[in-house]
Amino acid sequence: MPPLGRASLLLSLLLSPVGASAGQPDPDPAPELRPDGKGAVPRGQSHQGQVPGPASVSGTSANGIGYHGGPVILGQTNVYYIWYGAWTDTAARTILDAFAQGIGGSPYFGINGTYYSLDASGASHPVSNAVALAGESFCTSAASGACWQGASNLSDSAIQAVVAGALASGALKTPDPNGVYFVLTSPEVTKSGFCTSYCGWHTHATLQGLDVKYAFVGDAATQCPSACMEQTIGPNGDAGADGMASVVAHELEEAVTDPDLNAWYDRRGRENADKCAWTFGTTSTAPNGALYNLTLGGREYLIQRNWVNAAGGYCALQYP
Ligand SMILES: [Zn+2]
Repeated sequence: MPPLGRASLLLSLLLSPVGASAGQPDPDPAPELRPDGKGAVPRGQSHQGQVPGPASVSGTSANGIGYHGGPVILGQTNVYYIWYGAWTDTAARTILDAFAQGIGGSPYFGINGTYYSLDASGASHPVSNAVALAGESFCTSAASGACWQGASNLSDSAIQAVVAGALASGALKTPDPNGVYFVLTSPEVTKSGFCTSYCGWHTHATLQGLDVKYAFVGDAATQCPSACMEQTIGPNGDAGADGMASVVAHELEEAVTDPDLNAWYDRRGRENADKCAWTFGTTSTAPNGALYNLTLGGREYLIQRNWVNAAGGYCALQYP
């Protein structure tokens, strides 16, 4: 574009939309977007929601994120792991189990207590700082039942079928309205979009008549360490599982504050964890040289920060 001359500058001013200069300038004039649950993008990428549409805000948007009227998970959140694939890396289970068992009650998960739902009377109901690892199941090529979908090129609908299969088989009892079901794929399992568009995601579906919240998180250790892992060594000695812990945290805090993709997000369709993806704050160095920033359940983890819905909004590792 050539430099503007005086005449063309005047012309562009004359052609500006009427009213654009009156009143308060819109800080972000781009169209609003809704979240798609896929904001856990690879390192170096930025994310915007992909479903255009009006986004009326009924709660505060003064903190850089607004409430859009949908539910949050109230009371204790129950994490379920569905270990999909060979998972010969048995240390992964130890590391990620301890993470789910240790995150509840932590100052880190306390950040989610700045989010709430509003009931019909306008009363506010905040998210609880309570998380349990409520169940696990295993889905391998050898397992009977409906959960196994093959080990390569899983689609989004295949991930839903894994969850549905695990629930139908009775491996995880009945659907839990306070549950978040994580499909954790082992390093040899490939998934369309994993490593290129996202490192994980969360969504919901009606299964057995209930609104079931579920998420996908892949092990990037062999497929894309530079895209979906912050470091190639982990504080617990397992780079793949240690890297997954941060993505599990990301999807968990979004599944709790925006389970149906209609509660808490910003004008660009970014949910709370999306706004702080791949930022870690102050870190320490473990004996093996890996960085960490949180200690949960006696183990150290390098976990991305989360967005605090208070004091104007900011990324943090704890609240208050
Ligand atoms: Zn996200």
